[in-house]
Amino acid sequence: MSSSSLASAVVEQPFPAVPEEPEVQLGDLTAIRSLIRSQLVPKVLDVDIKAEYPQDFMRALGAAGGFRGAAAPAFGGNGLGMRHVVEVMEAVSEECLSTGFLVWCQTACARYIQLSGNDELKASILPRILSGEVLAGTGLSNTVKSCDTIEDFRLSARRVEGGYLINGVLPWVSNLGADHVFATGCPVQDEDGKLVFVLVDCDQPGFKLLDCARFIGLDGTRTLACHFKESFVPDDRVLAHPEESDEYVKRIKPGMIHAQMGMGLGLIDACCKLMQQSNKSHSHVNQYLDDQVGDIETVLAGARESVYEIADELSAGTGAERILEILKLRLAGGELSVRAAHAAMLHQGAKGYLVRNPAQRRLREAYFVAIVTPATKHLRREIARIESGERCDGM
Ligand SMILES: Cc1cc2nc3c(=O)[nH]c(=O)nc-3n(C[C@H](O)[C@H](O)[C@H](O)COP(=O)(O)OP(=O)(O)OC[C@H]3O[C@@H](n4cnc5c(N)ncnc54)[C@H](O)[C@@H]3O)c2cc1C
Repeated sequence: MSSSSLASAVVEQPFPAVPEEPEVQLGDLTAIRSLIRSQLVPKVLDVDIKAEYPQDFMRALGAAGGFRGAAAPAFGGNGLGMRHVVEVMEAVSEECLSTGFLVWCQTACARYIQLSGNDELKASILPRILSGEVLAGTGLSNTVKSCDTIEDFRLSARRVEGGYLINGVLPWVSNLGADHVFATGCPVQDEDGKLVFVLVDCDQPGFKLLDCARFIGLDGTRTLACHFKESFVPDDRVLAHPEESDEYVKRIKPGMIHAQMGMGLGLIDACCKLMQQSNKSHSHVNQYLDDQVGDIETVLAGARESVYEIADELSAGTGAERILEILKLRLAGGELSVRAAHAAMLHQGAKGYLVRNPAQRRLREAYFVAIVTPATKHLRREIARIESGERCDGM
């Protein structure tokens, strides 16, 4: 071998591989929209009709940074806050509300951890939820409804050495699986009605998941019944102990409700597109329908602006005092979802009735925005209680 060929062989030797830190994706919305088009859109009918849980998409969305708005950079968040959470949920819900709801479950659980006083969970599991490595749910419907005196608590806790023993059943919690986690809260015996909030491991002893409900929409959301029988939750999984729980609820509740608007905004937008599509050929008759696309788009644009503005305030640690506005906006979100889906259905006509047509799916999905906790009737009751002075803290 000549000296020159030796030299080129040496030059061409690759440098020894330096182990690379995986690049953290911070949630660029253009990249997320492209991921939605390539990985979610082809699956939407399977999620809706075959109840297929979009696990691969959820993990890919996490890897793309889609959940990182839910926490501060110190815990693996992207610093873009709740507006980013809402924007991602909105983009996903524009195609599939079931998956949009899963985004809410995942990011709500991340937020509950971030707003807790449990530094160990913030350092250990929170970054894994934000990256989509761990999938997470929130079993707080019953907690919230019971706190608002609408129904009885379905779970109860007992203080024992090093933790709490929990008993009872939550009938419907979504985004669950054997290796998932979820947050819930329930009253503790002998603690004067005060609650404990915990992060449950779905494989913890004394806990089991049962798949016993079929739904006419949102059936791909892995919504399972959670059975607790003397199930031990150690102190290191506690989000708020009884003496901390009143303040904790005040921290989590406004954002928990507000972020759900991402589902409504995305769904309403999709309904407007269905109306526009129909108007290309049928505007001569569609013009006689009560709700025209322009009317709904105008309300949607105003709602979107308010949602983003309040989301920014909540991220900055303010905005909770706007609870009445948040409740009214959320109520309008459910109502406008149903109205827009109804209008889309009437615009599409008979073809909207076909199994594979999105109009009838949107109608089934829209009712979910209006019935998931806090449901329309729940919101109206809380708004009436605040406005009559019966409730002054708004929580
Ligand atoms: C697809 C889907 C996904 C959901 N995901 C979640 C979630 O992730 N986390 C969560 O906390 N909640 C979840 N829920 C529950 C939801 O948010 C509401 O709390 C629930 O739908 C009841 O609200 P409601 O307004 O109908 O209650 P109300 O009309 O006030 O009362 C419903 C009553 O029905 C009773 N009830 C509830 N479940 C059952 C049941 N399975 N069988 C018989 N009776 C029952 C309750 O005791 C309650 O008194 C989900 C519901 C659905 C349909």
